Amino acid sequence: MTKTDRDTRNYSVLGHEIMTRIETLASHTEQEGEMTRTYMTAAHRGAASQIASWMSEAGMAVREDAVGNVIGRYEGTDPGSAILMTGSHFDTVRDGGKYDGPLGILLPIACVAEWNRQGKRFPFPIEVVAFCEEEGVRFKAPLLGSRAIAGSFDKSVLENVDDQGVTMREAMISAGLDPTQLDAAAMSKGDIAAYLEVHIEQGPVLLEENRGLGVVTAISGSSRFMLELQGVAGHAGTVPMASRNDTVMAGAEIALYIEKRCNESPGLVGTVGQFNVPNGAGNVIPGHAVMSIDIRAGEDSIRRSAVDDIQAEIDSICTRRGIRKSLEKTYEAASVACASWLQQSLEESMERHGCTPRRLPSGAGHDGMIIADIAPMAMLFVRCGNGGISHNPGETMSAEDAALASQVFADFVENFSATEPV
Ligand SMILES: [Zn+2]
Repeated sequence: MTKTDRDTRNYSVLGHEIMTRIETLASHTEQEGEMTRTYMTAAHRGAASQIASWMSEAGMAVREDAVGNVIGRYEGTDPGSAILMTGSHFDTVRDGGKYDGPLGILLPIACVAEWNRQGKRFPFPIEVVAFCEEEGVRFKAPLLGSRAIAGSFDKSVLENVDDQGVTMREAMISAGLDPTQLDAAAMSKGDIAAYLEVHIEQGPVLLEENRGLGVVTAISGSSRFMLELQGVAGHAGTVPMASRNDTVMAGAEIALYIEKRCNESPGLVGTVGQFNVPNGAGNVIPGHAVMSIDIRAGEDSIRRSAVDDIQAEIDSICTRRGIRKSLEKTYEAASVACASWLQQSLEESMERHGCTPRRLPSGAGHDGMIIADIAPMAMLFVRCGNGGISHNPGETMSAEDAALASQVFADFVENFSATEPV
């Protein structure tokens, strides 16, 4: 048996172990039969302690910070050196998938366990962070775990309430956390030599190109709006077509323009995810409609120019159709670039394991975009099965890809040098 055969066999065992643990973690759910695990619920606390015990079995010192991040530290030979941080989140959307988040926690734990078995240490400490909250479901505030570590946690969200009227602060206290200690969770620039997050792609690109892995170039920026259209309600039978001020037809024309405009640039995407007709009825011309608009791109200039064009088109469609409108920007975030030296190292690791490098932007937000405020950041994407579907119970991936990703992750760590090449 050659060394490479032996390595592949080891990683194949690791790949299966990661998949089994993802299933075990999925049993911590709020709703039997679906994958729902939101911040500070019993299911969420159960998952946290399960992860903590796997970390400690793998030879890591485990701590929980004030926001509820579970952090495993695999000490280096030079404990004073900046850490190599990796991790992902263990909360989910409602009725979501099992792999979104947990892969990026359980994969590094499996690799650390392997190094620990071999008695292998690196000059730098490795910290695996199980971020407590990324999706923003229960308290309508996302990325709580990474914000606490990056020192950008907005404490006003502690007063946000869930559907039962429980504040975030109360939920944290009843779970045994101390929100007054949040500042102590923050790390500083220089503490983290680099951050690498392994995550499923949550899209179909790698699947369609028959590749197991991809290197993320940037986390796309996004612009989100709510558009309110005011026309004139009228009788569906009596008002001639030319005399109508129909808000749904105006909204539909706007939505089709967004689709056409976003088809013009690769990496640019536009979505109308909500389209409501308040008090609508089948026999009434809609006088009022409200729609959401979400525009994203890996490059900010591409996104901004699309937003400008869409705004101009909304003006012209509304003027032509006699519709009053108000367009409110609800969110804007610039894209966050992955560090080019880390992308380069990941590509070298991929090449050493028979993968042709493929770079792609991430259309979804991730904890990495927050950690990038205090550390160089990179992401390794892993192919999704089932058409690339995610945030859906149909989300899936293969044990072979888990094995390949752990091989590339381990290679990256084993060759990591904390200083950026000049
Ligand atoms: Zn995720």
